[in-house]
Amino acid sequence: MEGLTESEIAGFAVGALLLGASIAAQSVDGFIATSQRRSLNMCKRCGDLRMVACSTCKGVGSVRKGGTFTFAMLEDLYETLGAETNAADLVACSKCRSKGRLLCPECSKVR
Ligand SMILES: [Zn+2]
Ligand SMILES: [Zn+2]
Repeated sequence: MEGLTESEIAGFAVGALLLGASIAAQSVDGFIATSQRRSLNMCKRCGDLRMVACSTCKGVGSVRKGGTFTFAMLEDLYETLGAETNAADLVACSKCRSKGRLLCPECSKVR
């Protein structure tokens, strides 16, 4: 640590401490949320809703033909521009049967 003043070293130490504390706080948060749900006998995946949003259609229930990768982005763009979404380009999501939600895999397997 040559060339560093004591206050600089102290600054590094405080910075590292704060960084470590904020990382620890985040993981503690996640841990508490999960363990709270578990102690309340709630599902840690869906919080006892027994439903999770469909990952294929993002809960919308329909997907754009030719792939879902840019679907949400395009949808936002269309809404921003105020243009009508071409319904002919949308097909019902086959994963959730256009409901936008799926039975929670955690709940349906345990109970
Ligand atoms: Zn879906
Ligand atoms: Zn669940």
